[in-house]
Amino acid sequence: MRFDVLTLFPAMLEGFLAESMVGKSIQRGIVEANVHNLRSWTTDKHQITDDRPFGGGAGMGMKPGPIFGAIEELKREDSQVIYLAPDGEKLDHSLVLELAKVPHLILLSGHYEGVDERVRESLIDREVSIGDYVLTNGTLPAAVLIDAVARQLPGVLGEAQSLEQDSFSDGLLGLPQYTRPANFRGMTVPDVLLSGDHAKIEAWRQEQRRLRTSERRPDLLPD
Ligand code: SAM
Repeated sequence: MRFDVLTLFPAMLEGFLAESMVGKSIQRGIVEANVHNLRSWTTDKHQITDDRPFGGGAGMGMKPGPIFGAIEELKREDSQVIYLAPDGEKLDHSLVLELAKVPHLILLSGHYEGVDERVRESLIDREVSIGDYVLTNGTLPAAVLIDAVARQLPGVLGEAQSLEQDSFSDGLLGLPQYTRPANFRGMTVPDVLLSGDHAKIEAWRQEQRRLRTSERRPDLLPD
């Protein structure tokens, strides 16, 4: 799967794309991620990407020219173009699964007051928000989306992690986790986990997931 990120802050993604599962998935060739500085598509000497809004008021907006240039150059038949935007549809597990089926995602990160509305009207297939709060630019939201989508791709997670036990994978939250030692400063691991009885352990885990979901996210449980 290929990602192309359009941003004014490419350096923000350097460490992110080199580390952890996303870094490994790139090394293994499962994911290709290209980061582009939108200034490369400016045509003026000062590489300006923003301008004052028509109608006056505070703030600056992102000019359409560089964004049109970038997307027109990168777009393929099988691409989806996503604008990361606080007023977009909220990123959740089902949207992540949907996006993991798309061969090529172009992720547009805004800055200032956002992008010129004509970009949104004519170039963008989907607008995605990572939550009801406002960040200074869309580069971290693009990283969040890449991380969530990449870990769904076959071969990205090793044996140490499994998608099935993740929160939201089957409508429930994840498991309480315990590792060695069995007794840490007087805090012990539940006996059942030391019993070696796999059926009992599985039943306990399911029960814990249901309990945790009803305590923390009852909205996820069927009525
Ligand atoms: N004026 C805009 C508004 O009120 O909706 C906010 C613009 S924000 C300061 C600048 C850029 O950050 C946006 O264009 C978007 O790309 C990104 N951004 C900020 N918060 C975001 C969020 N919650 N989800 C996705 N992108 C976000």
